[in-house]
Amino acid sequence: MPDASTLVTQTDPRALVRELEGKHLIDGALVPAASGKTFDVVNPATLQVIGQTADGDAEDVARAVEAAAAAQKAWAETPARERGKLIAECGRLLEQHKEELARLVALETGKALRTESRVEAGVLADAFVFYGGLASELKGESIPFNPKMLTVTSREPIGVVGAIIPWNVPMMLMAFKIAPALVAGNAVVVKSAEEAPYAVLRVCQIMNQVLPKGLFNLLSGFGPDCGQPLVAHPKVGKVTFTGSVEAGKAVYRTAAEKLIPVTLELGGKSPMIVMADADLDKAVAGAAAGMRFTRQGQSCTASSRIYVHRSLRDAFVEKLKAKVDDLVMGDPLDEATDIGTIVSQQQFERVKSYIAQGKAEGGTAHLCSQVPADEALSRGYYVQPVIFTDLPADSRLITEEIFGPVACVVAFDDYEEVIAAANDSVYGLAATVWTRDLKTALNATKRLEAGFVQVNQNLVVLPNLSYGGVKQSGLGKEASLEAMLEHFTHKKTIIFNME
Ligand code: ADP
Repeated sequence: MPDASTLVTQTDPRALVRELEGKHLIDGALVPAASGKTFDVVNPATLQVIGQTADGDAEDVARAVEAAAAAQKAWAETPARERGKLIAECGRLLEQHKEELARLVALETGKALRTESRVEAGVLADAFVFYGGLASELKGESIPFNPKMLTVTSREPIGVVGAIIPWNVPMMLMAFKIAPALVAGNAVVVKSAEEAPYAVLRVCQIMNQVLPKGLFNLLSGFGPDCGQPLVAHPKVGKVTFTGSVEAGKAVYRTAAEKLIPVTLELGGKSPMIVMADADLDKAVAGAAAGMRFTRQGQSCTASSRIYVHRSLRDAFVEKLKAKVDDLVMGDPLDEATDIGTIVSQQQFERVKSYIAQGKAEGGTAHLCSQVPADEALSRGYYVQPVIFTDLPADSRLITEEIFGPVACVVAFDDYEEVIAAANDSVYGLAATVWTRDLKTALNATKRLEAGFVQVNQNLVVLPNLSYGGVKQSGLGKEASLEAMLEHFTHKKTIIFNME
């Protein structure tokens, strides 16, 4: 095993970018794209170009998949607990590099360092430690089929896993894909998001210090040019994807041609129901956290449809606005900043067009906090958080995923009416209900059509909690033991004739 301490930590994110720019990581080495092409990565707080990243295509995919296929054979022969120990060791190494990773992801995504990026870097390391400890759970069964036969099952790795990740929590979402895949005996090829290629590449570089070369490869590039060839490659036996519904469907269609399994996490429009008997202050704190205002609302599970009993609505909006007003918008790398920027111009324009539409429809926009006054940040993608009330029931702001700091508060009178409204969505990722009444809580958790339902709290995705949606929010589970067993292995049935 190479000396784990060879890579020194580097807390200047710009110096790290200079080291990593224009490169994929294939077969243990930082290499440029086969075509030599690159594209710009922009700091969304200043609009300055941070650096270039490799513009991958089918040729890079082929090199990475071949390296992964070659490495996977010996990895699958390594005892499961040895694999687990190495993955847990990666977690410990990543913990040592936590600060530099947090700063790098803050620079490229605009997520505030203190409230968001450091939290992500912490969960990243924890995910590897968690899955490393689950290696001995890759067990089979014995089946009472016929006393004259010994019938058992075993969990076999799939082979090469292709993972396509988004920009909002790139390191953490990557970890929840590759940690279980690797522990289960697979090799991985990851395609990073166009907007956020560097922090995940650094994670890959750090892990490649201890993993056999070729086991974890990372490519950057555009979805259709680099993501699609990865899904389509004949040696990729499984694809795991997080992103938009539209891209998820494209991935699913390509995977269907090869009949390979896919895991899809495609976002949501998660309802939060505040009953008349709820603890108002706790519900308000839960809404502020659940909406991920500190991440500019750029979260799949954002509680962006908030149904509040009419008797509490005005007080709720007033308190929520006051809470968000207290959050400081500013330079993502500044310790004083609570809220950074939107990730890209495309998202910025999209979010602003939803806000304009809400106003045009007669909605009341309660604008919160203040965009930073600093001249250097004046061109940055800052959007003031907004709480909308009085929107028409069929407003696109209430039905569509905005992925921005836009919360829609809707008053309701009747429990049946609010359950029906909450379930009237193409999505089904997360939901919360706020009440002191046990029967209401139990009834709501049973009836809400979502994969992740909470009562009187709004936790984020964490190791050990199976995470995944129903309806168009996706297919399959992540972050748990079940995710590793069901989504990164196949079960083989083995029958010995003992006669
Ligand atoms: P967003 O709109 O939030 O950027 P996307 O779904 O477009 O979300 O992107 C999420 C990830 O999916 C990115 O890594 C992107 O490059 C990739 N991607 C986008 N389109 C495709 C596609 N047709 N095939 C494979 N990957 C894709």
